[in-house]
Amino acid sequence: MNLSSKHVYIAYTGGTIGMKRDPAGYVPVPGHLQEQMQQIPELNSHAMPSYDIHEYDPLQDSSNLTPDDWLRIAQDIEKHYDRYDGFIVLHGTDTMAYTASALPFMLKGLRKPVIITGAQIPLCEIRNDARENLITAILIAAKFAIPEVCLCFGSQLLRGNRSIKIDADGFEAFSSPNFPPLGRVGIEIKIHWDLILPPAEKSEAVAVRPMRESRVGVLRLFPGISADIVRNILQPPIKGIVLETYGIGNGPQDASLISELKTASDRGIVIVNCTQCIKGSVNMADYATGSTLAQAGVISGFDMTVEAALAKMAYLFSRNLEPRDVRMQMQVNLRGELSR
Ligand code: ASP
Repeated sequence: MNLSSKHVYIAYTGGTIGMKRDPAGYVPVPGHLQEQMQQIPELNSHAMPSYDIHEYDPLQDSSNLTPDDWLRIAQDIEKHYDRYDGFIVLHGTDTMAYTASALPFMLKGLRKPVIITGAQIPLCEIRNDARENLITAILIAAKFAIPEVCLCFGSQLLRGNRSIKIDADGFEAFSSPNFPPLGRVGIEIKIHWDLILPPAEKSEAVAVRPMRESRVGVLRLFPGISADIVRNILQPPIKGIVLETYGIGNGPQDASLISELKTASDRGIVIVNCTQCIKGSVNMADYATGSTLAQAGVISGFDMTVEAALAKMAYLFSRNLEPRDVRMQMQVNLRGELSR
């Protein structure tokens, strides 16, 4: 396939991939990524698609990103949507799975690929994973009309809202334990088309659904967690929390803690049960320690990642839905984030 007629848009938000070594550690420096890219002959090869890079100002370490930055990325893609065949978001790895989980809710009507990638070692180092990840992402964005937000890293192409960061320093830093990879990067790049979501209707223009609601959070259970800690986190202005539970969705049957959860649920706080395990699904009916949570009004997050559940809840509250409707939609598959 000749890719020279294809156009790829690269949104460079920051992150290790384009950082420069500084006495204080790696820092994002304007212009540096493009300087590095000019020195890579493969990127200027005739076999490559044409691409444009939009460098964000400021470039950020992804640990500093907020939902406002997700909105900026989504609006950037919307603005350039008609002029390009595919989109790449260069992003730090630390919160990449959060952005990859949020964008599918924010970008409605996708018919083209949005590929998020980054690196553990920047382009400026002799030994790095940045070069491979970048070239692979550009090729995928140009060659395959995957109508999804994907995360491409190492040898895998993952559904964005199924991905989690699993390794702080390895090159295979991401996984989607509850959903098979959408593609494998080996001698060939193989896409598993049977897993890819259908494209939006041709008549539907891509549109951004803003995600402005940040009054959601995550609470991880641990042995000895007390009722007053739970009460505090459930105070206004919080609207919803992802409760990270044990195993298949269990928690302590401490009566005062359960009563805090129930009181909050009755007040309209949405509490979603996601497991602390990296793989598997919540089923609150299996144990008394799970069904007690269900009786307190906690709803199941099934096999959603915490990142996806958090983003989905923020998205639903941003649409001004009532808690009852948020609870209902949380348990329905909206963008491939949930196996049900
Ligand atoms: N701290 C960096 C970031 O997330 C790490 C990375 O890009 O790998 O921006």
